[in-house]
Amino acid sequence: MAKNKIYIIDVTNRDGVQTARLGLAKLEKTMINIFLNEMGVFQSEFGFPVTSHETNYLNANLELAKIGVLSPIHLSGWIRATVKDVKIAFSKVPKLKHLNLSISTSDQMIVHKFNGKMDHEGVIKEMVEAVKKARSYGIETIGVNAEDASRTKMDFLLRFAKAAKQAGADRIRYCDTLGYDNPFTIYERVKKLAKEVRLPIELHCHNDLGMVIATSISGAKGALDAGVDAYINTTVNGMGERAGNADLASVILAVKYSSGFHNKYHLDERINLSKAWKIAKYASYAFDVPIPINQPGVGANAFAHSSGIHADGALKDRRNYELYDFEELGRGEPEVIETGRQIVAGEYSGVRGFRNVYEKMEIKFKNDQDARKILELVRYANVAKQKPLVEDELKFIACHPKIASKILTMNP
Ligand SMILES: [Zn+2]
Repeated sequence: MAKNKIYIIDVTNRDGVQTARLGLAKLEKTMINIFLNEMGVFQSEFGFPVTSHETNYLNANLELAKIGVLSPIHLSGWIRATVKDVKIAFSKVPKLKHLNLSISTSDQMIVHKFNGKMDHEGVIKEMVEAVKKARSYGIETIGVNAEDASRTKMDFLLRFAKAAKQAGADRIRYCDTLGYDNPFTIYERVKKLAKEVRLPIELHCHNDLGMVIATSISGAKGALDAGVDAYINTTVNGMGERAGNADLASVILAVKYSSGFHNKYHLDERINLSKAWKIAKYASYAFDVPIPINQPGVGANAFAHSSGIHADGALKDRRNYELYDFEELGRGEPEVIETGRQIVAGEYSGVRGFRNVYEKMEIKFKNDQDARKILELVRYANVAKQKPLVEDELKFIACHPKIASKILTMNP
């Protein structure tokens, strides 16, 4: 049994929102952080500290962390590994505690992205200076990302990671940026990296060749077999650039139930899969992307049986045709769909309908004036989302109006 553990770092609010043609309102990103925290996820990469329209959202979410709403989850920013970006990040978001610094390490990118402006030594120098600068701000954890690690020459990757460790990095993120690795290659490469560098390894994998869950858990196995912890990067519903990242629920299921992992490799025990259904449904609504019918665990057909032999077998003993229970994912409750009159809170709502919406959730306002304050925020939230707010969002705004107001504020 491996003594080290597998932790989850969800990157929906960073890589997920880089999905072409799609995005999330800042309130939706906040809700994702809240649901990830409820699910016991170790860390949420919650956004881009250098990007101006993220500033209020990021600072407001750090306030939520301070008052215990977003705790114990770690909220981490993603920036490029340059001194300039570190300085901007801390000037805009001074209370940042966790940060990932990213720079390309493959020959392909060093030659064809940096166009001769930086060579291999230049990449190491830039990264080391950025790590030291971030350390000088009293940051708690620094992850150093080797972008395109899977296409990086092994000897350079080792030199890069050792230099990062020496400069003060806490973790190395092995980025399979193009989904180039397969489960066998990533296992060997990550095991070697972990063995020689002796730092915990993050696995950041993409699905361009359809292997993202397999590469993520094989990479994690490589790290654990070498005697360090592994941190798998996930996104809700596998959202992410091009073919996407590793789906959060699928990764958890694969670690818990696949042959050879089950009882041998351990997941962070705080993970609570019973929130998987709720967060998958929420992200699907927020991104406006349906959950595929055959999605592991949360798809409409994930527990559906129709052929005679399978239905009969599942009814006799669910283990005949199901590896895990739907209840574990938070499924099985009937969903209430309103079929009669509906009052929806929208950007042009009035106070009467609005109070009715909240009364249905058993939230009462002292008077119309109090209700109007919250109504105004809900109107703005509706403009940002461009679709009706869900109950959890309405409750959040009523409970934390000041912070909600900050999240909704943008000053271009
Ligand atoms: Zn990525």
